[in-house]
Amino acid sequence: MNVLFVENLRFLDTTLRDGEQTPGVSLNPNQKLEIATKLADIGIDVIEVGSAAASPGEREAIRVISDAGLPAEICTYVRALPQDIDLAADYGADSVHLVIPVSDLHIAKKMRKTRDDVAQMAWSAVEYAKSRGLVVELSGEDASRADQSFVRHVFTEGVQRGADRLCFCDTVGVLTPEKIMQFIPPLAKIAPLSIHCHDDLGFALANTISALKNGASCAHVTVNGLGERAGNTPFEEVVMALEVLYDYRTHIRTEEIYHLSSLVSRLTGVPLPVNKAIVGEMAFTHESGIHAHGVIREPSTYESIKPEMIGRNRRIVLGKHSGSASVEAALTEMKYAPTDHQLADIVSRIKQLGDAGKRVSDTDLMAIADAVLAIECNPVIRLQQFTVVSGSSMIPTASVTLNINGQELTGAATGDGPVDAAMQVLRKSIADVADIRLEEYHVDAISGGTDALVEVTVRLSKDGKIITSRGARTDIIMASVEAMIAGMNRLLEGKA
Ligand code: MN
Repeated sequence: MNVLFVENLRFLDTTLRDGEQTPGVSLNPNQKLEIATKLADIGIDVIEVGSAAASPGEREAIRVISDAGLPAEICTYVRALPQDIDLAADYGADSVHLVIPVSDLHIAKKMRKTRDDVAQMAWSAVEYAKSRGLVVELSGEDASRADQSFVRHVFTEGVQRGADRLCFCDTVGVLTPEKIMQFIPPLAKIAPLSIHCHDDLGFALANTISALKNGASCAHVTVNGLGERAGNTPFEEVVMALEVLYDYRTHIRTEEIYHLSSLVSRLTGVPLPVNKAIVGEMAFTHESGIHAHGVIREPSTYESIKPEMIGRNRRIVLGKHSGSASVEAALTEMKYAPTDHQLADIVSRIKQLGDAGKRVSDTDLMAIADAVLAIECNPVIRLQQFTVVSGSSMIPTASVTLNINGQELTGAATGDGPVDAAMQVLRKSIADVADIRLEEYHVDAISGGTDALVEVTVRLSKDGKIITSRGARTDIIMASVEAMIAGMNRLLEGKA
């Protein structure tokens, strides 16, 4: 047993309520059901699915999720108003997160009431919700800026009137672990207490863990830390901090965390920062050449969490720090067998991309390797010079000098655009040698962005023989020329 925490810590996930209050996020009932199903599956105890008073769509979501029979308590946010509580009960929720402002600022400015009015509202609402058969979590909004004796007063009487649980809300993210040591223990003695934190100053995780150490028994969390403004306490961070740093066994199926995180990011349309703890793209990515060597020999040298724990894989990417040994290792793993000359060409292209500030992913590496390995050692056609000009007041024109079987040959051609002009001039220049046709032309921007690596795929034919060839460069025209020349050489050498 871990003495720091209560024995069965619980999680209330509010991705579908507070998380949905992230500016710009709106989920339909089916999307909410998909996320709720995954939340229940991963081991969340209570799912706050929305706010019944907010809209008909919210109510439908509550109904759909309540009817799904998930193995989790289905909770909905309500104000201390009978009409909100009626909607929660009528649409099938198991419990209510009954929120009442407790700071003088909120009571005076938002509610325009007195402390006594607000306390009476809260207690009557608790009694009413209990009369409607709901489990009640009575929640003090802006509790971290409230007079703590008033919070204790509202909570103590609230529990006497029937509240099952309590919640301390750090609504604007101003708690500190030091304040928590003062505020939380007396409240946790009244009834099971939840902690609800916001990340305005980046303290949400630390505050949540501190509250759990000081007697709170449930953490309010959201997947990926979604939520109003800077967001709520990230679910994945609390779980992994407990598991890894405090050696506390949660009942969460951690190996599903990455899948859940990706699902929520996709459905909400909120991308993850690449360096986000636990679930960010770079969280288990090493650039080869720096730490990769150590990680390959012994992962714990540069990893505090095993990626498999959350259903991820370690990735080694290449960049300007990569040596030829690590590039070769990566290529061998992908079943490429470059010659020394080809390897040197691949390494130099990776370093060029790295110097231009880019990472080289596995897909990028494959594109580069395909392009380089397609270049013949003793090609029939060698490129000596290539120029293309285009603009708003001219016909795109390309000129090329090729060395074909030792003979220099220069040509020019126009086209519908610079790429077309490039393709035309290459075909025209070798027309005397062979009749090669361009059957298909395709471009992929591998990593996105106008300065990214571009992969051009061409399908060429000669005398009924068809081959596919690729070029990979940051310059689309040079990638096209590279793909064409590599393909033409293969057709001319008969190596289709
Ligand atoms: Mn909140």
